[in-house]
Amino acid sequence: MMEQNDFKNGQTTIQFYAGLKTIGGTIFEVTYKNERLIADFGVVFQNNLLKGVQLRPQHVISDLKRLGVLPAIPNLFATDEIKGDTTIAISHLHLDHIGLLQYVHPEIPIIMSEESKTLYGHLHAIGEESVDVEGQVKSVPFHQPIQVSANIQVEFFPVNHDAPGTSAMRITTPDTTIVYTGDVRLHEDDVDTANLPNVAGSPDILIIETTNVQEEFLDKNPVIQSEADELIPALLKIDSPSIVFNIYHRNVKRLEILIEAARQKGKIIVFEPETAYLVQAYNMEAPHVRYLLDDDSKVSRLIDAIEPITIEQLKSDFSQVWLQSSYHQMMTLLDLPVQGATYVHSNGVPLGSFDPMYAGLFEWVDKLGMEFVVLGVSGHASAAQIKWLADAMQAKVTIPLHGFTPELLQGPNETFLPETGVVYPIASLLKEKE
Ligand SMILES: [Zn+2]
Repeated sequence: MMEQNDFKNGQTTIQFYAGLKTIGGTIFEVTYKNERLIADFGVVFQNNLLKGVQLRPQHVISDLKRLGVLPAIPNLFATDEIKGDTTIAISHLHLDHIGLLQYVHPEIPIIMSEESKTLYGHLHAIGEESVDVEGQVKSVPFHQPIQVSANIQVEFFPVNHDAPGTSAMRITTPDTTIVYTGDVRLHEDDVDTANLPNVAGSPDILIIETTNVQEEFLDKNPVIQSEADELIPALLKIDSPSIVFNIYHRNVKRLEILIEAARQKGKIIVFEPETAYLVQAYNMEAPHVRYLLDDDSKVSRLIDAIEPITIEQLKSDFSQVWLQSSYHQMMTLLDLPVQGATYVHSNGVPLGSFDPMYAGLFEWVDKLGMEFVVLGVSGHASAAQIKWLADAMQAKVTIPLHGFTPELLQGPNETFLPETGVVYPIASLLKEKE
């Protein structure tokens, strides 16, 4: 492991800690002298070693480091001594990009887009994120280079993805330019991602996500106008009286779509208190929106613009209802007449068959006598669109990551597949490829 004084003299280096050959957990670090910019800070992997094992409160950080859950980055975590000049830049608020922020030393600044910071504040209010929003998190405007340290500049660009405020970023040092796409999609209505090559193109290095660059998806390039255009008609076609649905509630747009579809169908839509808080925070409350009353929920007390509904009322009016049900709340469905309802999997947890809980979800739905329907839209561009984006960016070196098979993407010039734990001087990456 390189110490800070080992950085190549006056040269930019890059190192990847997570996000290679997986769709989870992106973390990489750009250094120049004793300055560091860390891009994203996601959960590295779901470690089986932690399943059913209690964390020791006094040793959480050191234990998680020893298990490899926290990346081996020195002078960064709450229990570390802080030296050097470090900033963490966040592309968007999905857990595979921010899940480890809670362990970072409170003196390390965290920057993100203004919309991301707003959402972060709401997630903090409902107890889902813990970093001090006003103290440690700083928002940065789009299209404006920010000097994060003497020699490192970052500029954020809006891109389209299924979380508000999602950003790509350009990292500039005295000897190189790196563009990181973050997570992106490219629907017909999604103009920001399509515009990225115009505003951030031709860097030395492009780091690009490859979630959908998988053998089985290579031929799929659906033309999608927008999430609403895809999902509202499909939701309206479901003719069972009730719907039980899951969602990833950080997808604020999806909440709006479900509320609108329920309105058109003449249904009451019922959210869990945490999700209802977000509905309220984004001013999406409406006469047909309710939240499920839960006396144990502290969040319930923060909701005043949405009517509650009790489980008893829900039971008697169930044929009029579309109900959110997160996987960890499945037991609640035992108290409701859900037999014959349609269970709509709408990109909630468990996300897909790569998650062992997915099999559990099938068993639950079957046990409760519901019909299972997958009705979601990927937050990620198709393989063909990622290829288009990489070509349009015209980087000297393209680094595909955040996918199971990043090697299936070839950039327009050179393509490089890094390994974790290796410090790459940018100059050598560019020279080797000449
Ligand atoms: Zn994402």
